[in-house]
Amino acid sequence: MEDSLITGLRARDTQGRITYVNPAFCQMVGFSASELLGQSVNAPYWPPEFAEEYKRRQDIRLAGNSPPREGFESVFMHRDGTRFPVLIIEAPLINAQGHQTGWMSACLDIREQKRVEDISRASQERLQATARLAMVGEMASLLSHELNQPLAAIQSYATGSINLLHDEPDARGDVEIAIQRIAQQAERAGKVIKSVHDFVRRRDQARESVSPQALIDAVLPLINLQARKLSVQVRLEVEPDLPELLCDRTMVEQVLLNLARNGMQAMDRPGTRNRILTLSVQRANDRRIEFSVADQGMGISDDIAAQLFTPFFTTKVEGMGLGLSFCRTVAEQHGDTLVFKPNEPQGTVFSFALPVA
Ligand code: ADP
Repeated sequence: MEDSLITGLRARDTQGRITYVNPAFCQMVGFSASELLGQSVNAPYWPPEFAEEYKRRQDIRLAGNSPPREGFESVFMHRDGTRFPVLIIEAPLINAQGHQTGWMSACLDIREQKRVEDISRASQERLQATARLAMVGEMASLLSHELNQPLAAIQSYATGSINLLHDEPDARGDVEIAIQRIAQQAERAGKVIKSVHDFVRRRDQARESVSPQALIDAVLPLINLQARKLSVQVRLEVEPDLPELLCDRTMVEQVLLNLARNGMQAMDRPGTRNRILTLSVQRANDRRIEFSVADQGMGISDDIAAQLFTPFFTTKVEGMGLGLSFCRTVAEQHGDTLVFKPNEPQGTVFSFALPVA
């Protein structure tokens, strides 16, 4: 059995001298049994660069300490100088009288196994890099998508101001307000850029403590802007006395904007009876606060539902198909996911929950 085994077997006495090797061991290291028997430290198959370490390991073994049962990895050197990884499983060698007379080792050449592991690690890394790259692409598109909103707002405030100055020279107060709004929108645009930048660099220290109402207040003016354009009525249902949340504020605001925009667009078609968008915030449990965006639009059919979160899936002429996949990523980064269900009597409700600070 020992002769036909492909596992290398090696026995050592209590002084560390080799007392036995099987043919597989000899073949593995390229030395004959007679060249190996009686050898101890600095065995011919020890790579010189590891000799010190192996000697220490042997001392520990000879002092009576058992090696790990599952074995350990090491490196052997073939006669021709080739280094190769091995898995060594050692056990005390007990004689017929029950005394330990040394150590028995089973040695496996794990070159192939390592090679496969390396390939799979490399392909895993490639996969991650690709995913990252895809994400960067997604973010770049998203950036242009999201910047449209503050830019459009800036543009309309600017046009309004010019008209005011032109038609009503005394409208100084109104113009001042409009210019303040422009500054706010420009700041918002800057934040969007920064948040995407941070997102791509996967920084997660952007969490801050914020009240649910503050999140709603931050997005409401923009939602109202679009609501007026699409003749949508916006309703708010915020549970009183909600605790503060811990979240990446800009990202979450973006999610609310995306969901609200989708909801309003879903109602922007002839035949929609009630154009009502309801934003609600309520306690999901002790640790989470749930945000929902409910529309009364056309709802989501099964085949659309199946592709909803796929990046670039869109049914809109000018859609990018990135909004929902972004929203879901953000929800997941806050330890939850984005879900949707039919709204009663009509439409869809999207919701996600954020952790309490
Ligand atoms: P986009 O809005 O650019 O199309 P999204 O990822 O936000 O990208 O949405 C993908 C698709 O999901 C939309 O094109 C639309 O068909 C569908 N969808 C999203 N939200 C709603 C909604 N509230 N009601 C109905 N359909 C929706």
